[in-house]
Amino acid sequence: VAKPIQITVALRALFSINNSPQARWGSESSHPVRDATVEIEGTGLSATTGSTGDAKLDVSTLVSGNYVLALTPHKNNLLRNSSEPVNVSDGNTTDTAGTCRYRPLKIRVSFKLSAGSVKLEVLGPQDGVTHGAAFFRMPATLLIDWKPDWVACKHKGPRPKKSAPTMVLVHRTEGSTAGSALDTFIPSPRSITSHYLVDVDGHIIKLVHEDLVANHAGESWWAGTAGLKNASVGIEIVNAGKPFTQQQHDATIRIIRDLMTRYPGITRHNVLGHGEVRVVTQDGAARNLRLVERAGCPGVLFEWKHLEAAGLSSKADPSLFAESQIDAEYGGYFKDKPDGRIHFLTTDGKLLNKQKQPYGVIASLQADLSALGYSINASNGVSVTGEYDDATQAAVDRFRRRYMPGAVPDNMRLYPIFDRATAIALKRVLLDRKQ
Ligand SMILES: [Zn+2]
Repeated sequence: VAKPIQITVALRALFSINNSPQARWGSESSHPVRDATVEIEGTGLSATTGSTGDAKLDVSTLVSGNYVLALTPHKNNLLRNSSEPVNVSDGNTTDTAGTCRYRPLKIRVSFKLSAGSVKLEVLGPQDGVTHGAAFFRMPATLLIDWKPDWVACKHKGPRPKKSAPTMVLVHRTEGSTAGSALDTFIPSPRSITSHYLVDVDGHIIKLVHEDLVANHAGESWWAGTAGLKNASVGIEIVNAGKPFTQQQHDATIRIIRDLMTRYPGITRHNVLGHGEVRVVTQDGAARNLRLVERAGCPGVLFEWKHLEAAGLSSKADPSLFAESQIDAEYGGYFKDKPDGRIHFLTTDGKLLNKQKQPYGVIASLQADLSALGYSINASNGVSVTGEYDDATQAAVDRFRRRYMPGAVPDNMRLYPIFDRATAIALKRVLLDRKQ
């Protein structure tokens, strides 16, 4: 009888990136994958993970060579439809907060057996999957980072009248790991969460089914509608201030494409940044509809151009409106003053043309911003006042962040510059929204 040669396969949810085994969700031992089956394909050898996430296998009967480790979650932790690239149908409406679901994972390994011992080598995940990675650990231990595609988070129940979502809001987490976001979302006393979380490497984690309301919008207002959590799907992107990765932009595109297929009420014009809709938190009796908070969500580093190119966003399309056409707009203000800028608290009554008549430039600007959907007035969102007040400034700032990449340098403060270039971009987006 051969002496047993034991290997340990340690299954954890680490959310590692870049082939580094560093746990990005707690510690290396804090998120074990329990009750999963580890099988060495074609050998009849298999074991189940215990409460620590470890499975132990005796490989003394094997010969040296390459093998495939097939990992299968317990049936309660298996995705309903594990073939979907975006876990479309896997948002389970009944899982308790914190429940993780996985898709099966295969890892290729090499075993070199000699003199009663084994040398292990990781050859990598099979088929270039992104939802798992394997790392060699001494002695005879494989650490496997099995990334859940579904982590149930708290929600606010079904949408009003079982309505379908009509809007997408893009966010950034302001933390550097998916784990820190999950640790906020899962136990959240105020049920603050989102429907999706996109990690740095583009791995998508679904958190709340789209048929349920996730509390991700705060006090919010767009085009006459308040309380946008009821109408929207939230996508949180892991970002602490470095540039968003190409994989994150790609993953966001995949999610939105899929949402538009399933919910036809979501059009590219209803894909918005959180900062475009986030108004003052209600204090006292009066709700203040000025766009004041979350200017940096998702912030200036999010590259809307990728969504525009994919047909998933409004855009300032130069082919719709030539620069020279601005001369005929805004009462001819930019024809007379190509370098003109509107200053804080200026009113239309002070901006007069050669005939001493008001250009009406501020009222026109307010009407245009309002036609796009932005709140332009703290009291009701829509009243045109002809004054370049703080509510109007905030809407200009949000427009520039979204549609004029590079024009706004950071998320630290407002850059409410209304100039000729902004006016041209505004007219282009207005025309694009009619397409
Ligand atoms: Zn946000």
